[in-house]
Amino acid sequence: MISVEKALETILANFRPLGLEKINILDGRGRVIGEDIFAPRNIPSADNSAMDGYAVRYADTKGVTKDTSLKLKIIEDIPAGKVASKKINKNEAARIMTGAVIPEGADAVVRQEDTLKEGKTVTIYTSAKKGENIRFAGEDVQRDELVVKKGSVLRPADIGMLAALGKAFVNVYQKPSVAIMSTGDELVDIEIDPPPGKIVNSNSYSLAAQVLECGAIPVMLGISKDKKIDLQEKFKTALHSDVIISSGGVSVGDFDFVKNVMGEIGNAMHFWQVAMRPGKPLAFGSIEGVPLFGLPGNPVSVMVSFEQFVRPSLLRMQGHTKIFRQTIKAICAEDFQKQAGFKHFIRAIVKKEKGKYIATTTGDQGSGILKSMVTANGLIVMREHETRIKKGSEVTVQLLDNSLFQSDSLQF
Ligand code: AMP
Ligand code: MG
Repeated sequence: MISVEKALETILANFRPLGLEKINILDGRGRVIGEDIFAPRNIPSADNSAMDGYAVRYADTKGVTKDTSLKLKIIEDIPAGKVASKKINKNEAARIMTGAVIPEGADAVVRQEDTLKEGKTVTIYTSAKKGENIRFAGEDVQRDELVVKKGSVLRPADIGMLAALGKAFVNVYQKPSVAIMSTGDELVDIEIDPPPGKIVNSNSYSLAAQVLECGAIPVMLGISKDKKIDLQEKFKTALHSDVIISSGGVSVGDFDFVKNVMGEIGNAMHFWQVAMRPGKPLAFGSIEGVPLFGLPGNPVSVMVSFEQFVRPSLLRMQGHTKIFRQTIKAICAEDFQKQAGFKHFIRAIVKKEKGKYIATTTGDQGSGILKSMVTANGLIVMREHETRIKKGSEVTVQLLDNSLFQSDSLQF
């Protein structure tokens, strides 16, 4: 039996980022970009107006106030998207809209609010500073500047920037396909009302949702009977995917054949059993070079094991470097006891109360109590040697989602 840390180290040594694929930027949100993006052009491409008003020569407006107003001749109208055809000379102005390119000769824009238009003349009631109300070429992005760095996770702002630069397609890391199979003679498919002795295969669904949450692609292989020949066949089908996950059949029961089959048809079984609860009977190996996670069958164990070992692996395959869940320190709202020897992941509900994080356990911690995962938003991590948490003491909580950072009321 090995520690969680050693198991993770062994597992992660087998995962590297996959190759790149070219995608439309609209499919890029959440993906990791696999190339540096340099700006092929300035943004804005030319000096343009930040206001609706009049493009002027600032020198003409020197000393002008409300009382000593100045009359300028309007020589042109420049709506956004149109380029001026005339140069602004002394005592001339052009009507200009926000975003329109500044005409030659002009070096400031006077806001409409500080002017009065009468026919072909505009009266200016203020003096303009040089460059006032002008957005300069390249003030947002300079040509050849590095704007989106290789390895960054694309967010809406990045997608917008890529669009502004005319990059409709970019290279991102591929998504791994993940074969999911459940084992057990007691399992029936979701559409069947389970007869006595049978249960619905829910693990395939929680696993598929976890795979999707990581951005990877689940491939549903269904249920395998607890027979070696059945397992072998399913594993062979699974070889077409990038990663294989099985659930169940890795304990010490009479029909737990997964690890035997891994040993027989696989060329490597790296380890079996991790000093953790839930999730002790975990086997990790590979079949013909395809990594295989033999996860335990209990509905909570399978999800917690996925969180600790599969999630970081799938994220790394997609080029992510921040592959681990965030942990926080919280005050435990109750006493809790365990035996020494294993690292425990205790399902908990964390809330923010008066500026402090408070963690409460979800109650019964049995590895078959799936409802504990439904209510939890975090896992209190209790180390191997620890045996008790005292009410009011500080605990480490691994967050399972970002619910702690979402709010039902305005936070400012
Ligand atoms: P095993 O590790 O195969 O002994 O499975 C342990 C227990 O987990 C079984 O007794 C079932 O109650 C439960 N279990 C196993 N596989 C599944 C599954 N696919 N969906 C829901 N529960 C399962
Ligand atoms: Mg079983």
